[in-house]
Amino acid sequence: MRIKRLKLSGFKSFVEPAELRIEPGLTGVVGPNGCGKSNLLEAIRWVMGESSPKSMRSGGMEDVIFAGTTQRPPRAFAEVVLLADAGDNDSELEVVRRIERGAGSAYRVNGRDVRAKDVALVFADAATGAHSPALVSQGKIAAVIAAKPAERRMMLEEAAGIAGLHVRRKDAEQK
Ligand code: ATP
Ligand code: MG
Repeated sequence: MRIKRLKLSGFKSFVEPAELRIEPGLTGVVGPNGCGKSNLLEAIRWVMGESSPKSMRSGGMEDVIFAGTTQRPPRAFAEVVLLADAGDNDSELEVVRRIERGAGSAYRVNGRDVRAKDVALVFADAATGAHSPALVSQGKIAAVIAAKPAERRMMLEEAAGIAGLHVRRKDAEQK
């Protein structure tokens, strides 16, 4: 799976709709401290279904919505759209996550309303996802070194593309 485009609106510091094209090869995002570089990586993780506010450097999930400044009012929702090559026969994948104050998150995959679980499966089957070792946030290297064996196993399983099996097993056990 290759991410091709990212669209953000009302997500953290990206108050105005912004679009980022990621061309094949190496892409660098540069800018002064606090300009939103880490927020971009968090947007990728968030649209992939991240459910831990802590790993988004937030107190609660709604904190990802633009909070307003002295010049601008806060936004009512945040939305991130991720467009990717699905890998097989040139098909395109569009994943949308939107959060509204007081209403929680809603997901869409290729225009269809889906559950968070379905989004997790889409990415797990492509050996990626919100907890993929391919997404290395600031301070993450130290966290890997300090991880417990079970946590390290989870990272290896995600890298190996078998994390989706656990989601399905949990699902089957509940039935
Ligand atoms: P550094 O180079 O220091 O790592 P960075 O480019 O990674 O900086 P980020 O951490 O991505 O910067 O951006 C931080 C900025 O995002 C801060 O100015 C913070 O106020 C802003 N921000 C985060 N959440 C929100 C929010 N909900 N509403 C408005 N602004 C926000
Ligand atoms: Mg940063």
